[in-house]
Amino acid sequence: MAALNYVVNIASKLIRINSENPPGREFETASFIADELAKIGMKTTIDRFEESRANVIGVYGEEYQHPSIMLNTHLDTVPAGDREKWSFPPFSGEIRGGRIYGRGAVDAKGILAAFLGALRELADKGWPIKGRIILAAVADEEIEGKGTKKLIASGLRTDYAIVGEPTSLNVCTAHKGRLVIEVDFHGRSTHASTPSKGVNAIYYASRFIERIQTVKLGEKHVLLGYPTYTVTMIRGGIKDNVIPDKCTITLDVRMPPSMKLDKTIRSLEKIVRRDVPRDNYHIRVVNYIPSAETPRRNFLVKVAQQSILEILGMRRNVKGFKATCDMSFIVNQARIPTIILGPGRIEQAHTIDESIEICELDRASKIYSRILERILSG
Ligand SMILES: [Zn+2]
Repeated sequence: MAALNYVVNIASKLIRINSENPPGREFETASFIADELAKIGMKTTIDRFEESRANVIGVYGEEYQHPSIMLNTHLDTVPAGDREKWSFPPFSGEIRGGRIYGRGAVDAKGILAAFLGALRELADKGWPIKGRIILAAVADEEIEGKGTKKLIASGLRTDYAIVGEPTSLNVCTAHKGRLVIEVDFHGRSTHASTPSKGVNAIYYASRFIERIQTVKLGEKHVLLGYPTYTVTMIRGGIKDNVIPDKCTITLDVRMPPSMKLDKTIRSLEKIVRRDVPRDNYHIRVVNYIPSAETPRRNFLVKVAQQSILEILGMRRNVKGFKATCDMSFIVNQARIPTIILGPGRIEQAHTIDESIEICELDRASKIYSRILERILSG
């Protein structure tokens, strides 16, 4: 089977295996990948950590061999949503007009297929490399990164890593972090006919919401721009004739690498305190995924840029990735120099009628293969 047909066929088959998260059901997809990796001569392991959840790892080479590189992407997808709205069923892997359609086409089953295409190309050439390659297709990237965290906790280390996410074939060397905080505002309830006798917690919250929309906290990052602050949820009030004594807002903060957690919380607290007394609010961190960055002078970045130039015939600038991804754990917990690189546009991810261009998959597969050969040429 020609190389491109192989990639298209794998991508389409992967889309046909539902791995929506939630609920999180990657085991079947992991088994399919394990079979494919075994066919091209990689040692494969399925790490099943819950009834329906698993990572799959394929290895070529021995543990002591260097350099080593990990290709990492995820098996799970976000849910398909309202299936009636799709032009083709979301788990059909329909091929039409030079594109593959379905949930996960771009995020990240197409990318996983392109990884496999690159590995198969090396296998067909008799593995013309020195060193070690690890393919890790992990669970739970879309929620909290359980899969990659487990992988790192198991002691897996490599000299380099490529995280497969849709970057339109640009090398991304940094991504923003994500901080989710909740702020409880406390007031005093009373009858709504005498509001001055109470303290309205929703009014406290609304002052903060006004201020946060114009806030300028944190510096601009050369690749990622400014941090963003967005109120995404609000809960308050118990009845239409009672002054609310509690209101809780949820704030989503996207932080470039220069911003530190403690300092950000302290700055946000200062904004709250402009309008709200010390005893009338409480701030807590609900979720925090740190940002990550790899220096642009790193060998992997250079090799990736060079490989893209050769395959696409044009030079591409290094970019930043605005969302969070598993690079955070690979860099912050394992200190592995990492880039994010993949076919397809991030705007396609998580949408109805998600799709990816077949020729983009082909280019991706060739770029990955070129990077592997160059990094592992000894
Ligand atoms: Zn993704």
